[in-house]
Amino acid sequence: MTERREFLKKPAILILGAPGAGKGTQGAVLAQIPRFYHYSSGDIFRQLDTRTELGRKFVEYSKRGELVPDELTIQLWVSHMEDLVTSHRYKPDIDILVLDGIPRNQDQARMLEKHVEIHQVFHLSCPDRDELARRLRKRALKEQRLDDASEVVVQHRIKTYEEETKPILDFYGESVRCDVDATQSPAKVLYDILARLQTLEAYQKIASQTI
Ligand code: ADP
Repeated sequence: MTERREFLKKPAILILGAPGAGKGTQGAVLAQIPRFYHYSSGDIFRQLDTRTELGRKFVEYSKRGELVPDELTIQLWVSHMEDLVTSHRYKPDIDILVLDGIPRNQDQARMLEKHVEIHQVFHLSCPDRDELARRLRKRALKEQRLDDASEVVVQHRIKTYEEETKPILDFYGESVRCDVDATQSPAKVLYDILARLQTLEAYQKIASQTI
C-alpha cells in the first residue's frame, strides 16, 4: 500500500545559530532556489494578528527575549504546514524544508521528530557575541523589531540560545552537523552551505527529479 504523502516525514535542513548569526538571510536566499521552502518561525510569529491569543503570547514572550511555549510553537508550525500543503505552496514529497528558528530546544526537536527528517544541520557559528549584538543593533534600526532594540533583551536572547538552543546540536549528532563560519560574508556563508548541500543524498534525489 502506498503511503499518503502527507504522512511521510518531510525532508528538511535546519539552520541553527544565535540571534544575528544570519539564519534569516541564508533561509531567504535558499528559498529562491526551486524545491526549497523556507519556514522562519520568527517571521510566522511576527505575522500573527496581535489581537489573537497566540499573537499576544508571542509579544509577551519575545519582548522579554524568551521562547514562546513549545506546545503553542509546534501547533502553529503544524497548522501552518497543513495550510501550505493544502494550498500547494509547499509540496512535501518534492520540496526541501529549510527550518529557521525551529526547533529551538530539545523538546521541540523531539516533538518535530515524527514530522520531519533532518538531513543536515547547518550551524552558523559566531563565537564573537559583540559581533552578534552589533548586527542586531543594526537590524533594530532597519526593521521594527522590539526584541532587537533593547540591549538587555538582546543579551538575554543570546543567553537563551546558548542554554536552550545550542544543545540541539547534540540531539541531532555529528553525522548531520555542518559548521559554517558565520563571520564570513553572506555570499561565502551561502557558498559553504550550497557546497555541502550538493553532497546530500536527499538533495541529489530531489534535484535529479526536477531537472
Ligand atoms: P532571532 O534573530 O532571535 O533568532 P527570531 O525571529 O527567530 O529571532 O525569533 C524571534 C522571537 O520569536 C524569539 O526570541 C522567540 O520569542 C520567538 N520564537 C521564534 N521561534 C521560536 C521557537 N521555535 N520557539 C519558541 N519561540 C520562538
